[in-house]
Amino acid sequence: MKEELKYKSSIGVIGAGIQGVCISLNLIKKGFKVTLLDRDEPAKQSASYGNAGHFSPYASVPMNRPDILVDAPSMLLSSTGPISLRWSYVPKMIPWFLKFVKNCSKKNMMHTAKYMHQILDLALPSYDELFQEIDVSGLVESKGIIYFWTKKDLKSRELEMSIRRELGVKQQLLTPHEIHDLEPHIKKIYHGGVLYPGARHTTNPGKILLKLYDLFLKKGGCFKRENVETINFLSDNKPIIKTNLNSYTFAKAVVACGAFSKKLTDQLDEKIPLDTERGYHIHFKDHDHLLSRPVIFLNRGFGITPMEQGLRVVGTVEFGGLGAPASKKRILNLVNNAKYLFPELTKHYDEWLGFRPTLPDYLPVIGPSKNYKNLFYSFGHHHLGWTLGAISGKIVSNMIAGENTNLDLSAYNSTRFS
Ligand SMILES: Cc1cc2nc3c(=O)[nH]c(=O)nc-3n(C[C@H](O)[C@H](O)[C@H](O)COP(=O)(O)OP(=O)(O)OC[C@H]3O[C@@H](n4cnc5c(N)ncnc54)[C@H](O)[C@@H]3O)c2cc1C
Repeated sequence: MKEELKYKSSIGVIGAGIQGVCISLNLIKKGFKVTLLDRDEPAKQSASYGNAGHFSPYASVPMNRPDILVDAPSMLLSSTGPISLRWSYVPKMIPWFLKFVKNCSKKNMMHTAKYMHQILDLALPSYDELFQEIDVSGLVESKGIIYFWTKKDLKSRELEMSIRRELGVKQQLLTPHEIHDLEPHIKKIYHGGVLYPGARHTTNPGKILLKLYDLFLKKGGCFKRENVETINFLSDNKPIIKTNLNSYTFAKAVVACGAFSKKLTDQLDEKIPLDTERGYHIHFKDHDHLLSRPVIFLNRGFGITPMEQGLRVVGTVEFGGLGAPASKKRILNLVNNAKYLFPELTKHYDEWLGFRPTLPDYLPVIGPSKNYKNLFYSFGHHHLGWTLGAISGKIVSNMIAGENTNLDLSAYNSTRFS
């Protein structure tokens, strides 16, 4: 059969993180010919490989909250705290910070919460559809996720919980006694907590990503390990993607390069204020008995997830851009925090730095480019990009196919920054 008859049009997807792979898989299922491009092998280094593995459909309350402006200075000054700055990067990030502060009003916070909730609510059913076609046994657990805190942190928790109540998110307040019953090995430093019973976690995000990628290949998808350098357009608006090795022309293309997407959108005069919140992980092997589900200690902004590699300790929001090397100080901070909760932990392994792609209003960009109708975006999912992989893939593939999503997608459009 001639290629044109066998397939709908050909689509190029840039970035083989969870966004790019889910988009590619959904497109190929709709009959498109898909070429996925990434400068690395999938699931080697990306945020989609090293994250905390939470599927967090409850997490609609954003970081852009009025109270964060009051809390941020003490968080920054605390040596055990969740946020840090690379001072040399601060001048570059000032425009982002100013936009972030503007978005910390109650009205803007509620706008973000509403539109995050719209897609978070569909996140798990969308994964379930994809998981019907791969074997995830032993890789996905449904034990909920526990957040806990000390007295110092109570006020902002009340705000979060009341918004979630309004949105109808399932949450179960926990007394210290109940936390101890659920996770008896954690040192009893907490004064309260909450269980999100609808949350799940994966014991190996990289493995799930690879299984979805393999399914894409099995269905006839094509992968090119090449670095995308530029995107240009023919007179009929077809995108031409130039890599370090080749040049490709597609009917349509998608940018899904996570925190690195701005390098491409800047060339297209889009002015999308994407930046990164750097985060880290380390592993402690042979301590699996200490924890049965993911936990997050809110005062110190880090979490621990039981994974195939051991206990994965994950956290830190470090504002420092894409270029700077990993910070030994932030790694040490994670080690000390983990040992604070579990004094029996000994040597750690695997120091990893990853890049959360974050916009100052804490909504992702999902949709067509402002200037080019055959170019689509899916990036900026910040702390929730793993959770939102399957649903974003569905939305973008529907848009490309010209199918209705029955969702109000205006809040995710890149034109909101114009
Ligand atoms: C420490 C940490 C913990 C996290 N925990 C969670 C969690 O528990 N739950 C959750 O939902 N989310 C979590 N996240 C967020 C989540 O991991 C990210 O939002 C998500 O993985 C982003 O996926 P992505 O596909 O957009 O980008 P990525 O996974 O970063 O993939 C982008 C891909 O694009 C490729 N690329 C970039 N530029 C180019 C180019 N020019 N040419 C070719 N290829 C290119 C890269 O090589 C990469 O493979 C966490 C993030 C971090 C850092």
